[in-house]
Amino acid sequence: MRWENLTADLAGSPARDAALFDADAVTTRTFDTPEFRGITFHEIQARSIVNRVPGASRMPFEWTVNPYRGCSHACVYCFARKTHSYLDLDTGLGFDSQIVVKVNAPELLRRRLASPRWHGEHIAMGTNVDCYQRAEGRYGLMPGIIAALRDHANPFSILTKGTLILRDLDLLKQASEVTDVGISVSVGFTDGELWRTVEPGTPAPERRLDVVRTLTDHGIGCGVLMAPVIPFLSDHPAQLRATVRAVAASGATSVTPLVLHLRPGAREWFTAWLERHHPHLVRRYERLYAEGAYAPKWYQRRITRQVHELAQEYGIGPVRAGMPRRITVPEPTLAPAPAAPGPTQLTLL
Ligand code: SF4
Repeated sequence: MRWENLTADLAGSPARDAALFDADAVTTRTFDTPEFRGITFHEIQARSIVNRVPGASRMPFEWTVNPYRGCSHACVYCFARKTHSYLDLDTGLGFDSQIVVKVNAPELLRRRLASPRWHGEHIAMGTNVDCYQRAEGRYGLMPGIIAALRDHANPFSILTKGTLILRDLDLLKQASEVTDVGISVSVGFTDGELWRTVEPGTPAPERRLDVVRTLTDHGIGCGVLMAPVIPFLSDHPAQLRATVRAVAASGATSVTPLVLHLRPGAREWFTAWLERHHPHLVRRYERLYAEGAYAPKWYQRRITRQVHELAQEYGIGPVRAGMPRRITVPEPTLAPAPAAPGPTQLTLL
């Protein structure tokens, strides 16, 4: 089946990402299995796979590879939602369920790495959408991508919430023997209730920490991006402590907190979710994010300090390959998190 709407749109709008596609090669599929029910896959032949990050970006890397667009992990706050609008696709449910698959990604990457114009720069993956989302279980693009990077000894990093990465453990080990491989797993909090509503398509935080544990057990260092810390919902000191403690117990080599940011596309979707699930917080969010997409510096600094202190307390840090950390600090008795923000937040908001 042709993706007629998209190809027609591409012809008419310079804002569309027309350069990505060979219009004749777009195929739309659905699969009637419980895992993929309600999801539509748009298979495309991409024209390029290695993207340069714009110079003005805050990102600490220059080159990225993203074999998918849209993400069935469906995190309500996902900053990549806006990118779906460039394809004239919906940034809400459409982002969660209309998945673009660049089926030729491994071949394109292999060709690019072999080009005399490529100089072996670091490639970051999982930076726009998750390369180990559910679609990867069917399309299996990552093994070819990692194999190409391994064969060219090209350094790379992967950020994911997907447990599927363990399928590629052997390849990751082979790659890490010839080049720098950085793996980070994203776990913003360990609160099960919050996880079920705000990250409904992702593996549970505990399963993600199992990934960290398995990788470190196999000598592949793995950090945790503690993202996002969600104001008033996952930022209580007891919640931060529980999360950092679980991260430490997983053997993570580092923990890096990142406070929720709400760019256009994500902001509207998150606010609608907030209205449904936590209506009493809507006004507080309006005030906290009054200046734009980011929470105020004082708030970000406070969370960073708290997490770093906890990380130090639990001894999170680099470990020797094959020697995962197992913390010995006894589990604290957790006070239940209050429904309303703590006193500091109330004072300032
Ligand atoms: S896993 Fe990452 S890319 Fe996927 S929806 Fe969640 S935040 Fe977005």
